[in-house]
Amino acid sequence: MAGREVKVLSVTSECVPFIKTGGLADVAGALPGALAAEGVEMRTLLPGYPAVMEFMKDAEKVYELKELYGAAAWLLSAKVEGIELLVLDAPHLFARPGNIYLSSHNRDWADNAERFAALCQVACDIAGGALDGWTPDVVHAHDWQGGMAPYYIARSGAQAKTVLTIHNIAFQGIAPAIRAVALDIAAEDFHADGVEYWGQVSALKAGLNYADRLTTVSPTYAEELMRPEFGMGMDGVLRRRRNDLQGILNGIDTTVWSPEDDPMVQNYKSPRGKAKNKEGLRQEFDLPETDGPLCVVITRMTEQKGLDLLLEALPALIGAGGQLALLGSGSAELEQAFLATAADEPNVAVKIGYDEALSHRMVAGGDAILVPSRFEPCGLTQMMGLRYGTVPVVALTGGLADTVIPATPATMPKGLATGIQFAPVTASALTGALTKLTTLYADQKAWAKIQRNAMAHPVGWDSSAKEYAALYQSLVDAS
Ligand code: ADP
Repeated sequence: MAGREVKVLSVTSECVPFIKTGGLADVAGALPGALAAEGVEMRTLLPGYPAVMEFMKDAEKVYELKELYGAAAWLLSAKVEGIELLVLDAPHLFARPGNIYLSSHNRDWADNAERFAALCQVACDIAGGALDGWTPDVVHAHDWQGGMAPYYIARSGAQAKTVLTIHNIAFQGIAPAIRAVALDIAAEDFHADGVEYWGQVSALKAGLNYADRLTTVSPTYAEELMRPEFGMGMDGVLRRRRNDLQGILNGIDTTVWSPEDDPMVQNYKSPRGKAKNKEGLRQEFDLPETDGPLCVVITRMTEQKGLDLLLEALPALIGAGGQLALLGSGSAELEQAFLATAADEPNVAVKIGYDEALSHRMVAGGDAILVPSRFEPCGLTQMMGLRYGTVPVVALTGGLADTVIPATPATMPKGLATGIQFAPVTASALTGALTKLTTLYADQKAWAKIQRNAMAHPVGWDSSAKEYAALYQSLVDAS
């Protein structure tokens, strides 16, 4: 890129390898490295949760806030694992055990709006020059947790341009209107083109209305978001801001998801290593030997992910000799339903929990990876599957539509297909897709070709990093 380096502050509630509950963390963790090659100097502002503070033992205090939502707070700075971190050390907001968003009863922390508004206020201070020698040109906020940053910055008069990325429109940062004053929202901004959402405060809406530019994590999701079926009440704002909205596809970290030398996978040395990994995975999940495909699922267990449809469609897979190994956690109802199915059916095995290393072994050892989501902004596990020759079976939605080339009568003879897609997102269409999977799997030549295509499909950050860099540069050039 021509010109000087662009300085970008990334404002995020999660970032690999420090704290992760979902794909946002993967993206926030990958961006700084991917963008460095494009002339972007990114620093990452993250809340000081206990897990994050573990990495900050040698950090420097670079900014002090005498009062931030009830107590003093500090901003710590350190370069850790290659990432320039700025961590908001505010124990009264972030030093809590367990899930970063949920209290022990699986309910949102009652003060979530304030916790992340605090993060955004600090982002605004940084945009206003709070740090010696480093003021960002662009503040890039992620999801509702970063949503108030563009609002505070717009109101403060700071020079920084702002970008908001929507990783999942389902989470909107809603709080009762009575909290608006505490959240430092001016009365004149409490309206539908400001921070108000049907009589309440929405941090996401604030970001959607006040950020200079909006992005989301795949081109198809960008289109979907402007439709009522997918926009979850925000489609009107997004239609209004159509010209400022852009879909930039996520990538995966191809050094971490690297089939030839994945340290978390013992047996995998080449695509041919899959048979060995599959054997290991079957043993690990206590699955018998069969002739059909071993399907894996790695997921949050929520309504979004279409797992109820999978339960309904499973007999078609099992009946054709296939198997399922699922790793996930989330809704108690879905967890119970899968555990009950596994107890009855020897070809279904379930592990409830979160296990990074196991997820690698599953991607390496599975024949196919299933992602039957009702909506999926981008989705990462299908890309992990592609890289390891683990054929994705995906719903035709969001980033799943943008990353998988479906096996069809048109693509098969041309040798282009990398996976299987199904639509509409129903149990019967999924059943059809699983039947197609078992048929394809039985055709060794066709299957090997799909695996090769999948492994050759680019899933890294190269082209998307260029798109983000171009976006930042266009904002700087316009200022
Ligand atoms: P979302 O962000 O909606 O959860 P994505 O597919 O974008 O979905 O990202 C999910 C990320 O979390 C992937 O990196 C996936 O491998 C990981 N993941 C999800 N559940 C688990 C789990 N139980 N154990 C290990 N990794 C998981």
